Amino acid sequence: MKLTICPKCGGRLEQVLCAGIEVDRCLYCKGMWFDSFEAETLKVVQGSESLDVGDPQTGDRLDKITGEVDCPRCDRQMIRMVDIDQHCIWYEKCPNCNGVWLDAGEFKKFKDNFKGQGILGQIRHVFKRKRQS
Ligand SMILES: [Zn+2]
Ligand SMILES: [Zn+2]
Repeated sequence: MKLTICPKCGGRLEQVLCAGIEVDRCLYCKGMWFDSFEAETLKVVQGSESLDVGDPQTGDRLDKITGEVDCPRCDRQMIRMVDIDQHCIWYEKCPNCNGVWLDAGEFKKFKDNFKGQGILGQIRHVFKRKRQS
């Protein structure tokens, strides 16, 4: 089943391919829909941040919409999730199909958070060693 309507702004969705994975991107607000685990898979793919072509300011504005956002795939109300690392990202996740909606600019931050985990992990490791000695 092809998705056609953006859950945030009602714009049309287009299908874009990256590393063999089909992502649905809104032609108007450039928000993106990832089916279950696609965002997790794509964040480790080099160059996948080029999918996120939207203006982060538009994304920020749409991120403030805290009312009901329904899953474009199964029409269920999505839950707001937060990913905190270098950037704080609020995104919507469907409890039924596990798909996620990222507003424009959020996928780039999502990827950055992932890259940062290596450095943070190293810092944590150093602290642990200090405590032991
Ligand atoms: Zn949209
Ligand atoms: Zn769903």
